[in-house]
Amino acid sequence: MYTKPQFSFENIQVAFAPKSDEDLKKMFLIFSVLNNNLLSKWGVSLATWSLKLRLPVKWLIKQTIFEQFCGGESIEDSNITIKSLNQYKIGAILDYSVEGKDDEESFDRTRDEILRTIHHAGSTDGIPFSVFKVTGLGDARIMTKIQAKQTLSAKEQSSFERTKARVDRLFEAAYEAKVKILVDGEECWFQDVIDDLAEEGMARYNKETAIVYNTYQMYRQDMLRKLKDAHHNAVTDAYSLGAKLVRGAYMEKEAERAEKLGYANPIHPNKEATDDAFNEALKFCINNKQRVFLVSGTHNELSNIILPELMSLHGMKPKDDRVYFAQLYGMSDHISYNLAQAGYNVAKYVPYGPVEAVMPYLARRAAENTSVAGQSSRELTLIKQEFARRKAGKNNN
Ligand SMILES: Cc1cc2nc3c(=O)[nH]c(=O)nc-3n(C[C@H](O)[C@H](O)[C@H](O)COP(=O)(O)OP(=O)(O)OC[C@H]3O[C@@H](n4cnc5c(N)ncnc54)[C@H](O)[C@@H]3O)c2cc1C
Repeated sequence: MYTKPQFSFENIQVAFAPKSDEDLKKMFLIFSVLNNNLLSKWGVSLATWSLKLRLPVKWLIKQTIFEQFCGGESIEDSNITIKSLNQYKIGAILDYSVEGKDDEESFDRTRDEILRTIHHAGSTDGIPFSVFKVTGLGDARIMTKIQAKQTLSAKEQSSFERTKARVDRLFEAAYEAKVKILVDGEECWFQDVIDDLAEEGMARYNKETAIVYNTYQMYRQDMLRKLKDAHHNAVTDAYSLGAKLVRGAYMEKEAERAEKLGYANPIHPNKEATDDAFNEALKFCINNKQRVFLVSGTHNELSNIILPELMSLHGMKPKDDRVYFAQLYGMSDHISYNLAQAGYNVAKYVPYGPVEAVMPYLARRAAENTSVAGQSSRELTLIKQEFARRKAGKNNN
């Protein structure tokens, strides 16, 4: 039976419930800086270089952009953030966001750290998923060669075998701990290799329910087809498809490489086409709900309205464990908190790691929150509305 979804993203009181006036002022300042394209771009570059040169800027970064978008420098540091989200029925996804190290010891260390996140999730309420990037566990250059069908040297081959073993170790640990695990989507020139690893994991560990989820970046023109193919494989081999849908975070990098190497840009020609593909993919997942477990990773309001509507049309309850809504910590609380209050399954990525090592992640969030991308002006408008609401409340007392 159809029941109209009951929530409004305009309910900013719910969105900012955990924030004090001081927190809000700080957020306003951070999003104002991010909203200025030049300040944001230069600020992040300056911060990255200053850290490399060991200038004493860590405390400033930690108090501002790091605190806005990250849980802390370690799992233990992040516990306060996790508890605060849980208080509002929002799950946390501990995201060890260290990027850019590419030697075998670093890959082993990253595997061990992600194993810790899996064990922490398995033994703590309110952490429904783990997550990792395959490039944290293996060399992207080798995966690029594999996708390009180039021959690997014996050393490269053995390095890739170690990557596969690390990935499988994480899947196995997640399966044993009954923790769902998300494989993040990355750049298209080695994504096929990641897809193969994720599909092998699904075929092995998703027989009873979805443990392994792959990511489908809907800004890619071929992705709806790939999602359907992945579903077809899941049906043929009788396992559940874990599908995390996102629009995609590497648009500029993808365009630059395509132009440099002279192949067609794999990204949709405009934002509308990406939006249509994302919403079409939501429809496909819900239409195939017998086999598909969905995580909808987006801050897009319309997509976050369409999905509850689709669930209602299919008679699915908000708490149906086949559907999760996911956002990133520090962004779009008006979506996360209102959906959670309406009873939907919501979780937020809580990135953590040493400040220096999470800078590439923070740079991506800064780029996403410029006035060009449009996200921060939305955040600023909401914060202003909440200031006005609180002021009116005080005046009425
Ligand atoms: C929980 C979660 C997990 C995520 N995991 C991943 C991941 O594994 N891999 C990954 O790549 N990203 C990931 N992201 C980031 C995501 O891909 C987007 O970059 C980000 O969420 C912004 O998209 P949106 O749907 O939230 O919002 P919107 O603001 O509606 O969409 C912005 C996005 O639209 C697309 N876009 C913008 N302009 C154009 C254009 N001119 N032409 C074509 N497309 C355009 C781009 O993908 C851009 O990021 C994740 C996001 C979330 C919330």
